[in-house]
Amino acid sequence: MTDHVTTAAFDAWVRRFAELIAQERDHLTELDSAIGDADHGANMDRGMKAAVVALDDTSPSGAGPLLSKVGMTLVSTIGGASGPLYGTLFLRLGSTLGDVAEVTSEQVAAAFRAGLDGVVARGKAVADDKTMYDALAPAVDALEAGLKDGLDLASALGRAREAADAGRDATVPMLARKGRASYLGERSVGHQDPGATSVALLVSAAADTLA
Ligand code: ADP
Ligand code: MG
Repeated sequence: MTDHVTTAAFDAWVRRFAELIAQERDHLTELDSAIGDADHGANMDRGMKAAVVALDDTSPSGAGPLLSKVGMTLVSTIGGASGPLYGTLFLRLGSTLGDVAEVTSEQVAAAFRAGLDGVVARGKAVADDKTMYDALAPAVDALEAGLKDGLDLASALGRAREAADAGRDATVPMLARKGRASYLGERSVGHQDPGATSVALLVSAAADTLA
């Protein structure tokens, strides 16, 4: 049987991500204090709390409009580098899924691919720049590969979670080439990227809720 993901599952994903961000807020801030300006935890927590308030207000009945609403909220509340990047990610997820009540696993994977492409279009990051790309790209690759191998969505998202975690860990030895951390040059080496860390939470939340 083909998996179908309901709008309620996407709503649960956003709320779960907000919960994980609130739990990890201080850790994200600590990571950003080492190679940035110590605001990634506060930025993401402010944005995701606002996203939850927006959904509490009215949660759209279609998956696309729901995720687009989250994207618009993040753009207007986060600021910094991660506002436009996360905003674009959610806006692309939303525009790719469209105003439908249920989507297939393949549509979920296509939406994640489009979201990643949006992040790249905006931030111009490539592999090993030490950014959120380094957790998100392997997760999207793993999700697509898992579905292609015939896994169900739950298992494919499980693999995506492992890939995101590994991608996050792999940022530690990297030299930052994008964003504030790049100003540090060699001194950015040896620190985990905050954005890759929050993306791993996003993928983990997806594995918890979408299937
Ligand atoms: P700011 O850098 O403006 O303070 P945040 O601290 O909220 O914003 O976010 C920092 C994170 O944004 C970094 O850890 C990195 O993962 C991500 N980032 C920065 N620039 C880029 C970029 N050009 N492309 C992708 N991700 C980026
Ligand atoms: Mg910062």
